[in-house]
Amino acid sequence: MIDGRDAPNRRRVRGWLAPAAALFLACALAAAPAAQATGPGDAPPAAAPSVDELRDPASTAVLVNASRPLDPVDHVPNHLEPVTGSGHELVPEAAAATRELIEAAASAGHFLAVESGYRSYTRQAELFDQYSARYGEAYASRISAEPGTSEHQLGLAVDLGLTSGLCSLQACFGDTEAGQWIAEHAGEYGFIIRYPEGSEELTGYSYEPWHLRYLGEATTADFAASKAGTYEEYVDALEAAADVVAEPLDDLPPEGSALGPLRIDVSDGLFRLSDWREFE
Ligand SMILES: [Zn+2]
Repeated sequence: MIDGRDAPNRRRVRGWLAPAAALFLACALAAAPAAQATGPGDAPPAAAPSVDELRDPASTAVLVNASRPLDPVDHVPNHLEPVTGSGHELVPEAAAATRELIEAAASAGHFLAVESGYRSYTRQAELFDQYSARYGEAYASRISAEPGTSEHQLGLAVDLGLTSGLCSLQACFGDTEAGQWIAEHAGEYGFIIRYPEGSEELTGYSYEPWHLRYLGEATTADFAASKAGTYEEYVDALEAAADVVAEPLDDLPPEGSALGPLRIDVSDGLFRLSDWREFE
């Protein structure tokens, strides 16, 4: 216990390559270039969500995956609205951003349609049962979510496709000009491609270039700045940074040196990690 800031349930950093920090380093080295927030000049500044927001299904920043089900599992968003002409619904912020993205894509010559938006717990259960019956549960869980673990239940995830139907819900969508346009510009509208190529071990899902997750522009910009490759890595880093306490060490790393997205601060003789937003 040091300087009164320790707490029984907080993790101590015992060495300067503590497991969590080593993970960040590996993540930073492996990180793919993230979409830049290059909106038309009126985008809010990058800002990280709080650790509470990362678990709050009412927050646009909540992380949901197979190991972090919704709480409650039958969560229903307070407000949903139709995405014009699609027959699908999203929460209002995500619906508005989807409309803007589709309009901008059309201006660039890419004609997109919403293929899926909000799905209720019950609808997700039906879908998962259908996939399980057809492919077996192991494969079904790679391409679909068990009820209570889908981002679509948040009303914050949208599947987009070409109006022509080319490569609909297939990896080759990412190779189309529209898919490339989405990868480049989704961040400007507060979306990320949630299941990037080659990240199945981290996200639990195979590559889905059509599945966009609305995080809001501030979180999306912070995600891009973090250089995390997946939202799982970003959330891990935020939660770990909030969980780390300073501790005196014999073997101090150099002041100001970088450890992945984290900054090492030993100015007062204590080892401390601060997150990337303080690191230039
Ligand atoms: Zn989807």
